[in-house]
Amino acid sequence: MQAISIIGGGLAGLSLGVALRRHAVPVVLKEAGDYPRHRVCGEFISGLRPETVELLGLEDCFADAAVLREVAWYDVRRQLRTDRLPAAAIGLSRWALDQRIADRFRELGGVLETGTRQDRKTMPPGRVDCAGRRPASKSPWLGLKCHVQRFKEGADLEMHMSPHGYVGISRIENGCFNLCGLFRKAGLKPVPEQPLIFDYLKQCGFEALLQRLDRESVVAGSACSVAGMSYQSAGVPGGQTCLGDAHGLIPPFTGNGMTMALEHAALALDPLLRFARSGMTWEDCQREIEIRRRHQFGRRLRVARGLHRVLTSEKLFKMTTGMARSPLFPFQSFYYLTR
Ligand SMILES: Cc1cc2nc3c(=O)[nH]c(=O)nc-3n(C[C@H](O)[C@H](O)[C@H](O)COP(=O)(O)OP(=O)(O)OC[C@H]3O[C@@H](n4cnc5c(N)ncnc54)[C@H](O)[C@@H]3O)c2cc1C
Repeated sequence: MQAISIIGGGLAGLSLGVALRRHAVPVVLKEAGDYPRHRVCGEFISGLRPETVELLGLEDCFADAAVLREVAWYDVRRQLRTDRLPAAAIGLSRWALDQRIADRFRELGGVLETGTRQDRKTMPPGRVDCAGRRPASKSPWLGLKCHVQRFKEGADLEMHMSPHGYVGISRIENGCFNLCGLFRKAGLKPVPEQPLIFDYLKQCGFEALLQRLDRESVVAGSACSVAGMSYQSAGVPGGQTCLGDAHGLIPPFTGNGMTMALEHAALALDPLLRFARSGMTWEDCQREIEIRRRHQFGRRLRVARGLHRVLTSEKLFKMTTGMARSPLFPFQSFYYLTR
């Protein structure tokens, strides 16, 4: 049996590793960081189908996740609307989820080398790039997050919109809340002992939300930041097999990036198994993954990126929030088109 090597142990890499090990494929996974660790992520998992979780063998990992059924939308002054989600979403921290999948991978005999950064340019047959986004040098976006223990919630997920960025807050496991936002960089300097996200909330004018947040209850070590995201379609280097964010980003408001990382692993499983069992050439395996990916994600990414441009346009902000208040706003259609 041919071995598969994976660069990057986020959700795409770890779940692919688990799925391949369940079929006894030798797998070596190299991860630059370590586990557990906090990552900038809304930790709101939407559109994930039970069949995908089952195919990857990850059912146990979600056992204590929060179940989220409704979303309320706000601008800086008022609540705009509340929608019932067409399918319940899941709230689970990356701290817990990544650690659990990494443990499962090791239990199944996978070789996981943490603290090891692998060159992403050299990609021989059998090597898969799951190393996340390629930093964009001119991105205007800054992602920030922290966990809070206490919050007077108005809905399972609250989305707060402003012309300078948006922030979501939702329940995760253990009764905690994840506060995570995507902001236009404003050059604010971190104040010691205070997560930078609070300064950005103030800068965006989210006074009402700030009053409902208990700063004393921020979970130590949970504040983190990320920059360099691009939500335009960017080609991947030719001849490489890239899964998850390594292939391209879906804007965070969809709550679908983690699902896409897992779906990437699921769609690549069968071609990779056929390659590992030596029935398929690496080129054919790559071609098959690409066909499946286009079929599954093409429309979803186009619609989500188009909506991202509208939602984050400073010029269109008044119009967008005005439309969101209308009972005719097609929330359900947008939900299905972005999943
Ligand atoms: C602000 C923000 C909010 C978000 N909110 C949500 C949300 O609510 N719901 C949702 O579903 N998605 C959300 N996402 C998106 C989601 O976090 C990603 O889509 C998801 O993490 C992608 O998983 P991945 O495995 O492809 O990449 P990652 O999780 O980024 O994992 C890549 C891994 O590769 C490692 N790595 C990188 N380079 C190397 C190298 N050279 N060698 C070895 N290892 C390397 C990294 O350390 C990392 O562990 C959000 C993203 C942002 C920025």
